[in-house]
Amino acid sequence: MPRMRRRTFLYFVLTISVFFSSVGFAQRRTQPAVQKRPRLVLLIVVDQFRYDYLERFGDLFGPDGFRRLMRDGASWTQSNYDHMPTYTAPGHGTMMTGAYPAESGIIGNEWLDRATGKRITSVSDESVKLLGGNPNDPASSPSRLMASTVGDELRLATNDRAKVIGISVKDRSAILPAGRHANAAYWFSWLTGTMVSSTYYFKQLPGWVTNFNNAKPADKYFAVKWERVLPEAEYLKRAGPDDPKWEDVSNAWTPDTNTFPHTITGGVTTPGQKFYTALDYSPFTNDILVSFAQEAIVNEQLGQDDDTDVLTVSFSANDYVGHRFGPYSQEVMDVTLRTDRNIATLLDFIDSRIGLANTLVAFTADHGVSPIPEHAAAMGMGGGRVPFATVMGKIQAAISARYNPQGKTPDPSADYLLRFQEGTAWREWFINNNIYFNYDALKRDGVDVEEFSQVVVRAALSVPGIARCFSRLQLLRGATSVTDPIERRALHGFYPSRSGDVVMVAEPYKYIAETITATHGSPYSYDTHVPTIIMGAGVNAGRYLEPATPADIAPTLSAILRITAPSNSTGRVLVEALRK
Ligand SMILES: [Zn+2]
Repeated sequence: MPRMRRRTFLYFVLTISVFFSSVGFAQRRTQPAVQKRPRLVLLIVVDQFRYDYLERFGDLFGPDGFRRLMRDGASWTQSNYDHMPTYTAPGHGTMMTGAYPAESGIIGNEWLDRATGKRITSVSDESVKLLGGNPNDPASSPSRLMASTVGDELRLATNDRAKVIGISVKDRSAILPAGRHANAAYWFSWLTGTMVSSTYYFKQLPGWVTNFNNAKPADKYFAVKWERVLPEAEYLKRAGPDDPKWEDVSNAWTPDTNTFPHTITGGVTTPGQKFYTALDYSPFTNDILVSFAQEAIVNEQLGQDDDTDVLTVSFSANDYVGHRFGPYSQEVMDVTLRTDRNIATLLDFIDSRIGLANTLVAFTADHGVSPIPEHAAAMGMGGGRVPFATVMGKIQAAISARYNPQGKTPDPSADYLLRFQEGTAWREWFINNNIYFNYDALKRDGVDVEEFSQVVVRAALSVPGIARCFSRLQLLRGATSVTDPIERRALHGFYPSRSGDVVMVAEPYKYIAETITATHGSPYSYDTHVPTIIMGAGVNAGRYLEPATPADIAPTLSAILRITAPSNSTGRVLVEALRK
């Protein structure tokens, strides 16, 4: 300060001494000084990301992505979801509510709405309109979420000054972590290639979102070749050949190969719906999300004042790629390495604009994934597929044997399970491994529901590949053991007015799914074991071996923020990592 005038300098010294004496004064008082809250809570989610990816690829990560989270944050190595099905919506409905599906009501990505007989999604809402895409395309809202989120509670605590924004490729993954009282949620439309929202949040999109869309953010990836970011030898070492026989892309929604490079066009010559769908199965939507998150931070001035804002960013590309190629593929390895770079870019941007010291970061995933059944079979691990027709055939045969012993035609018990029309055929409702009873038909014929339940459960258990089966009555009565993790996870996934009447669990490495290459949903560790990392002021960095679950994130963030925990929060405050 060579040019500082003497008077200014004196004033400077005086201010400094007043500051230090007031610090000393505060320390002498018994009341602690009021601490500032972080300016931003950033939730980063990677859709379909097993805990073991952090270890399998750990030495290949750069210093500022996943490795920064593990180094500077508190990381729980034994973090498991404690519900099933381990799907996207239930996971995203848990992390910021601290509530299992039994409390959040988000029991699946989709379920049967008994009132209308329709298949609905966790966020579908016919009362709202889509913004930013085709106005008549289906729109979404958090109306079915039955619990408040950390963001909702921050809004209540700050008289709405806190801003809460959710971003993802999938609607459910943007909407559910943000909450019912969020300012906005934005997701990617695979119909129009734009970032969209709904009239649940506002009458029209903010100008910056329209500007983002006008620049056609998806189109610059048209015909781009997805290549490996590292030399092929590294992939051969870690993931094996690029085209193992269990990697089956023949039933893919959009044309693809099972080897690099993947050229992303969707089989069309100019960007359009098929291309945008194909883009979902590439790593590039993660890049779009990072750009969009940066725009949101700047234009919404997130983290610029003392009222803590919330930004949730859920990367979906990993899930699409994982379903198509499986967790041990070169493609999943590559999208994981690219996500590491995406997270580094996002954290660096926040550090430069808001400061990571002023940011509380949580990182997790909505579920893991199972090996491809044919891969698990080739490894001698008992992988396989349980055909839907075999399951339902056995159950219907048992129902007929008990309730139509004379073999009358038509079979009066043929409609005892709820059915839906698909084209010209009628199919039983079988969703989330749940079967739904037709109570009207059971009542009509005076069938005892408890006995009927037992007939269905016994029949399901007789199907090769079905390990466990629970009835509604059993779950409602609490006739399950909470020390048995599978029974407990079934109970935590059961919401009476939305769930079915019988819940099935396949054996490990087996799917009741005939076509999808790789998937998740089970109560087994490959689907439940995910990262839980919290980084920021007030958190002691380190590896923690205590059991944890992503349901612990919301109550722990609430404790650090000193706000009321979300309404149905049942998770644990992860006190072992909190500074006193
Ligand atoms: Zn998911």
